[in-house]
Amino acid sequence: MKTISHWIDGRVVESTSGHSSPVFDPATGEQTAAVGLASVAEVDAAVAAAKAAFPAWRSSSLSKRAEVMFRLRELIDANRKEIASLVTAEHGKVLSDAMGEVARGLENVEFACGIPQLIKGDYSEQAAGGIDVYSIRQPLGVVAGITPFNFPAMVPMWMFANALACGNTFVLKPSEKDPSVALYLAELLAQAGLPAGCFNVVQGDKVAVDAVLEHDDIAAVSFVGSTPIAKYIYETGTASGKRVQALGGAKNHMLVLADADVDMAADAAVGAGYGSAGERCMAISVVLAADSIADELVAKIAERIPAIKVGPGNEPDNEMGPLITAEHRDRVRGYVNNAPEEGATLVVDGRAGVPSEGYFLNPTLLDNVTTDMGCYRDEIFGPVLSVMRVAGYQEGIDTINANPYANGTAIFTRDGGAARQFQFDVQVGMVGVNVPVPVPVSYYSFGGWKSSLFGDTHMYGPEGINFYTQAKVVTSRWPDPSTSSVDLGFPETR
Ligand code: NAD
Repeated sequence: MKTISHWIDGRVVESTSGHSSPVFDPATGEQTAAVGLASVAEVDAAVAAAKAAFPAWRSSSLSKRAEVMFRLRELIDANRKEIASLVTAEHGKVLSDAMGEVARGLENVEFACGIPQLIKGDYSEQAAGGIDVYSIRQPLGVVAGITPFNFPAMVPMWMFANALACGNTFVLKPSEKDPSVALYLAELLAQAGLPAGCFNVVQGDKVAVDAVLEHDDIAAVSFVGSTPIAKYIYETGTASGKRVQALGGAKNHMLVLADADVDMAADAAVGAGYGSAGERCMAISVVLAADSIADELVAKIAERIPAIKVGPGNEPDNEMGPLITAEHRDRVRGYVNNAPEEGATLVVDGRAGVPSEGYFLNPTLLDNVTTDMGCYRDEIFGPVLSVMRVAGYQEGIDTINANPYANGTAIFTRDGGAARQFQFDVQVGMVGVNVPVPVPVSYYSFGGWKSSLFGDTHMYGPEGINFYTQAKVVTSRWPDPSTSSVDLGFPETR
């Protein structure tokens, strides 16, 4: 059985903790590897390597850091398929979807190539007589990333590209469910010329996470995962003096107004609801359909579902793969089991006709869902789309704004005024107008509101640069010595 290890100080390091976790192929249910789970001492070793590497890396020139990012960009580009295959083997998503994940992750590396421009400060000449004032941004030191199972390539790239480009050194704790991609990226970073110790991977579970959160030598933690863990990470990390950004779960609504192009809305709902088997934090989970078009929209979604090809992610024609584990598949099925008893209409039952092996659930469509039902209240994170009927815009916006999650949302309409009002009114961090999965491009920043984000800073893009640096303002004078005199007054500028 293959063993998946750590990456510390520029090389693979076997875990000696004596604890491991099985890694499965979700398409077959077979165990393919065991991942070593780090002890506190193993986390200490990774942090020590990152700490030792920091002084030289932060002193390296901006051109040198940009050069490493440019080389990494080329290496990831040349190895897209290998990375995507690793994602599919352990996560289960179909290869085309995994290729999309790699592409969107790569955009963050491309953004970080611009670090000389991104990290520039301001300069004010003659702020007072003979005095100039300027701001600089400096790295924090050792920073850590803790990532979820659903984007094992992209989410680490959201974090480490900017963190390293800013001059920090990095410790990544990937999901123990699909740990191999992190090691592959570590090897590419080494090939790109990143000095040993600047990027480390510790495989692990709560033991490793807690060791990261409590470690005195870690300055900041970026987290992406479910809301209860995000809250825990934020509270524990900030209590030990760290800067923390913790992105949590989601329940994304798509509001379809009466004037929308119903075919376009149905295509969008199917793609955004069932893509990646619904295991995306930006997946559409709830369609709020204006009453007058609801019957037509439900019929059009239902008629598209049988055409979705469900099966192992490594078979090229398949469009939707399995869920991540048997336990998660059963949890998602539980919502489908309960929905009719709670009063929902089961329009398409995805429990039927699933392959006997692997963790599959077929696309499922629920109608007449209401806000008191379990399938509405909780984040399902599976291929289950719930349609809720609303009178129109106002009931739609009120429903979205009453939900505790606020990651992404979308409106489908032909009315520009309604779309603009929606953008103004909606209390959600990322908004699509006739775009169902509005993941911001890498030169904006990603993040939700309310229970979808703990901390003030969104991830990647300009906010990522701010998160991984601290500002310093320098007030400077180069006086003629003959003009010097004692002055006990508060410095004035006029
Ligand atoms: P998760 O919260 O279970 O795990 C995330 C990370 O936390 C993993 O590295 C895991 O090892 C660690 N972890 C799990 N339990 C822990 C505990 N008790 N103590 C300390 N650490 C713990 O999330 P997941 O199941 O891997 O990923 C799916 C979730 O992530 C969904 O809720 C999804 O919405 C969310 N997500 C959010 C975003 C976003 O940007 N907002 C993006 C992707 C995924």
